[in-house]
Amino acid sequence: MASTKAMNPPRRECRQCWYHAYASREAHAGLGPREDCPECVDHMVNGHPEHMIVR
Ligand SMILES: [Zn+2]
Ligand SMILES: [Zn+2]
Repeated sequence: MASTKAMNPPRRECRQCWYHAYASREAHAGLGPREDCPECVDHMVNGHPEHMIVR
């Protein structure tokens, strides 16, 4: 189970990145130990989509 903190990012944080940072075990469950998460990489390369930022 993801923690309450992981599910409740503060304002101006990216929901996806917050969740992946605080619940990385759940969020990255399908990845190998040294495998990059495509969702995290996408945000690192392209930035965080406006609709994922907490208002
Ligand atoms: Zn990720
Ligand atoms: Zn993000």
